[in-house]
Amino acid sequence: MPDVVTMDKIVSLARRRGFVFPSSEIYGGLGSSYDYGHYGVLMKENVKARWLEAMVRERDDIVALDSSIILHPSVWRASGHVAGFTDPLVDCRHCKLRFRADQLEEAQCGARPSKHPGETELCDLTEPRQFNLMFQTRIGALEETGLDAYLRPETAQGIFVNFKNVAQIARRKPPFGIAQLGKAFRNEITPGNFIFRTLEFEMMEMEYFVPPESAEHWHRYWIDERLAWYRRFGIRESHLRVRAHESDELSHYSSATSDIEYLFPIGWSELEGIANRGDYDLTAHSEASGTRLEWVDSATGERYVPYVVEPAAGVNRSLLAFLVDSYDEEVVAERPRTVLRLHPEIAPVKAAILPLVPRDAEMSTRARNLYEELRRAMVAEYDDSGQIGRRYRRQDEIGTPFALTVDEQTVEDETVTIRDRDSLAQERIPIAGARSFVLDRLAQEWKTSKAD
Ligand code: ATP
Repeated sequence: MPDVVTMDKIVSLARRRGFVFPSSEIYGGLGSSYDYGHYGVLMKENVKARWLEAMVRERDDIVALDSSIILHPSVWRASGHVAGFTDPLVDCRHCKLRFRADQLEEAQCGARPSKHPGETELCDLTEPRQFNLMFQTRIGALEETGLDAYLRPETAQGIFVNFKNVAQIARRKPPFGIAQLGKAFRNEITPGNFIFRTLEFEMMEMEYFVPPESAEHWHRYWIDERLAWYRRFGIRESHLRVRAHESDELSHYSSATSDIEYLFPIGWSELEGIANRGDYDLTAHSEASGTRLEWVDSATGERYVPYVVEPAAGVNRSLLAFLVDSYDEEVVAERPRTVLRLHPEIAPVKAAILPLVPRDAEMSTRARNLYEELRRAMVAEYDDSGQIGRRYRRQDEIGTPFALTVDEQTVEDETVTIRDRDSLAQERIPIAGARSFVLDRLAQEWKTSKAD
């Protein structure tokens, strides 16, 4: 069966159910900016938590860091971002639109949207000009005496400039890594495709410092690890692939980069980049700052500048991939339903507690008590508004794996029904054991039931 998902359906569900809203909407919205509602926040927190667990909690060789968004401006000069973090842009003198010169074949002509810029006789493109993607700001109150600064376009530089601090205190020797989660800002000019490309976004980056001769090995290792992470949380194998960058695509710091790509409704696109940054960054900061950023083995006196392998992922782009991959529609008992078949550990809400007849005091008391018990162990939701069918559909659309319904029989024998989001199977279980039943099910291995 062909995949039913389109970007429009995702945008509409995300908005309807309060995952993602256009930013500053009452002022007409701001291009490439989005705000996250309740379920979007919960889901984003889950994506970040799964990444941090996989990077830090489940390993002994990676430590965490949270550096500033505004770093000393010299950081960005030394890193090459002031000179080199640019996109080549062309303007069309006819339609007045601006395009990335390296992505013309993906863009639409302003006058004839079925054509690419430059393809019609009316198109009048300028020569490409380099446009820096960093947002500038000023530190200090006065225009004249203030210091020009930048909002970070990646979190990685905060890691490199802390290399010495962390390496000393963490008492680790290469290979070891430093992981950081946080906001990054890029003055993107190409239209966003919803949350795929935005002006600000959260990054999940890990810099893995290794002996130079083993960098290629670790590069391959991290490509495999990161692919496994997406698969582990339910992304279908058929929708993931690895693409190595051509030499003319490489960033200014990279000697090899492979992208993990996902088959989004807009086509295969980058989900995460895994770069071999060599010793570029540590050497650049050593030279510019005068502080030697190198590894010194205290036992042997051996010293060298480690190479860096970097898996760099976007939280928001991952969230989009999880939404797209899980989106499904089906007809059940002649009624259509939309469901997010999210991995339980990614789903914003784990269990919904639904009293069948909300006005019935016996039912609502039991449902409330069950809700109070479950919410201590997981994100749970109590919903008593509207017909039961509508409440189920609402939970399906936000991807809640389990719905527990309190009905007449509950009052008689203290059991509840538990409905499985994916199979729609319902079973009756004792209310007293409901919490551990759900926790057990949540801990079980999960595989999507969505067709490839
Ligand atoms: P692209 O080619 O899509 O512009 P990039 O190669 O510049 O991305 P990296 O610098 O490798 O991206 O950033 C690492 C990750 O951060 C990307 O794989 C993506 O998930 C995320 N990312 C980068 N730019 C954006 C953005 N503007 N909005 C949302 N996520 C982004």
